[in-house]
Amino acid sequence: MKTIGLIGGMSFESTTVYYELLNRMARERLGGLASAELLLHSVNFAEIAALQAANRWADAADRLASIARRLEQAGADCILICTNTMHKVAPEVRAAITVPLIDIVDETAVALKAAGARRPLLVATRYTMEDGFYHRQMADHGIDVMVAPKQSRDRIHSIIFDELCKGKVLDSSRSEMLSIVDAARADGADSVVLGCTEICLLVDPESLPLPGFDSTRIHCVSAARFAIGDTVEIAGRKRYA
Ligand code: GLU
Repeated sequence: MKTIGLIGGMSFESTTVYYELLNRMARERLGGLASAELLLHSVNFAEIAALQAANRWADAADRLASIARRLEQAGADCILICTNTMHKVAPEVRAAITVPLIDIVDETAVALKAAGARRPLLVATRYTMEDGFYHRQMADHGIDVMVAPKQSRDRIHSIIFDELCKGKVLDSSRSEMLSIVDAARADGADSVVLGCTEICLLVDPESLPLPGFDSTRIHCVSAARFAIGDTVEIAGRKRYA
């Protein structure tokens, strides 16, 4: 089995999901007492969030690139950045290593395409929804991403940073999220990308009025396939609230 290197802690609430899903997949695929070979570098998210807020993406890129290099030196056969937002600096991280970076945006786009979805609503941090890197990368796969109006984007961002990243999962926020998805459906969305690795803690993609694509789960499936070298599906207990 290959070793998966995780750059996590952004936030640790979602990194625990990666840890659980990857181990469950290994056990379900290989049986018995099998579990995943993982190397985790979990950052202090307060430092990364401060760099994001100050628009210091080059500094954040240096930080993540150096962690990726250390994970590779420690024996990782691939690297995962366990957050959609920080894929803004994925090119810099990829350039720092010789092992593959399994990219959450590419993997999610492939899943959308395979399911015939072409116009997803992107639910993510403000950075991911508004920067443009995510839209451009999805467009390379023929996916035309749409986002909610500004007021809803602000609310989604706040649910992520003020609630989910702090371990708060609120029914009222889940209802708000469903209303945002309903409005997007009326505006022509054919699917929803849970494009933030914490959203799966709040929303079950199967409970949405449109087909839901959970980037966390998709990322883990791709990593497990790489590590185990075979088809892996996640069964077992769901993480969704
Ligand atoms: N985990 C989140 C994401 O997937 C947000 C945290 C961050 O800003 O990195 O985008």
